[in-house]
Amino acid sequence: MSGKADPLEVAKEGKPSQVTNEVEEDPFEIALKQLRKAAKVLNLDEQALEILSSPQKILQVSIPVKMDDGKVKVFTGFRVRHNIARGPAKGGIRFHPQETLSTVKALSTWMTWKCAIADIPYGGAKGGVICDPSTLSQGELERLSRGYIRAIADFIGPDVDVPAPDVNTNPQIMAWMLDEYENIVRHNAPNVITGKPLEVGGSLGRFDSTGNGFKYEDLLAWSKKIGSVVGFPGSKPITNEELLESDVDVLIPAAIEEQITAKNADKIKAKIILELANGPTTPEADEILYKKGKLVLPDVLSNSGGVIVSYFEWVQNNYGEYWSTEEVYNKLDAKITKAARQVLETMDTYHVDPRTAAYVIAVKKVADAMKVRGWY
Ligand code: GLU
Repeated sequence: MSGKADPLEVAKEGKPSQVTNEVEEDPFEIALKQLRKAAKVLNLDEQALEILSSPQKILQVSIPVKMDDGKVKVFTGFRVRHNIARGPAKGGIRFHPQETLSTVKALSTWMTWKCAIADIPYGGAKGGVICDPSTLSQGELERLSRGYIRAIADFIGPDVDVPAPDVNTNPQIMAWMLDEYENIVRHNAPNVITGKPLEVGGSLGRFDSTGNGFKYEDLLAWSKKIGSVVGFPGSKPITNEELLESDVDVLIPAAIEEQITAKNADKIKAKIILELANGPTTPEADEILYKKGKLVLPDVLSNSGGVIVSYFEWVQNNYGEYWSTEEVYNKLDAKITKAARQVLETMDTYHVDPRTAAYVIAVKKVADAMKVRGWY
């Protein structure tokens, strides 16, 4: 994590992330290590493990964008579909200067587990574009978003692969992408993408669902006004190192992967680490934290509110019928509470940490779906 990063970044979707992901360990290798650990606990069939160890489809695209100065710049993008045994692939699209295929592969794998734990009928996918959105004008950002969708249009679809926002993308970007997709297919298709603005079929409650429960309205209003949380009245700027090592009860890494590593895990004072980012803790750091008696609430459970409400949005789009915020929150509460209870029970049954317990549930569900389909 760079010393310059915004220490108070509270919600990952749509927030310009200054936190770098110059990762130390290959992200997909991390995803595989986590999978193998759960597979061992489960005594998973070797063939199932082999299938789950590679994404099912990988698409890399080049996106030429006419920049404001009239010159064309070519951006590289990815869409990775990890596994669709439980339903259409689901997962966000990130815009990030340090995006790599390995990161997108890891993130798509984590989406497979997240959807399985939440018990929503989706597989896992992820998209990414290598770009720094803070250097793009609104016009350039719109042309890049539309160009990305044109490039991946054949690869996605309401019953195939359903994108959503992630780091540095937001409802406005989803609206441009939806519009572009509908221009291509020549019919209305709100269920092809979630995290949309309400005006084009978004769901009430989607925006706050990823970091649910936190009262950060004032902070959000401030960051909307000045484009950053820096300078929020009553706050004191600190470095990311200071933030991670703060003497607090709960630490919430909420920006990007590989921030808690073997290098700093020992210095973490918080008793509870609530992962709102995807993949913020490496397997080595996990071991250190577990030995020190820290409770790590894993990303695939604790930030699943976003994709759960994405699922509700998709259902509402499919039916053409829309729910109240209260209805959405009640349904979200029921799903996430059930998932958390199952993780707790599994921790007890197998005597494992929460991440391994969550993976055990997810891997078993996906493997069972593959089995009945006759994949192994
Ligand atoms: N980007 C969010 C995540 O990582 C939401 C994905 C979605 O709604 O499809 O879970």
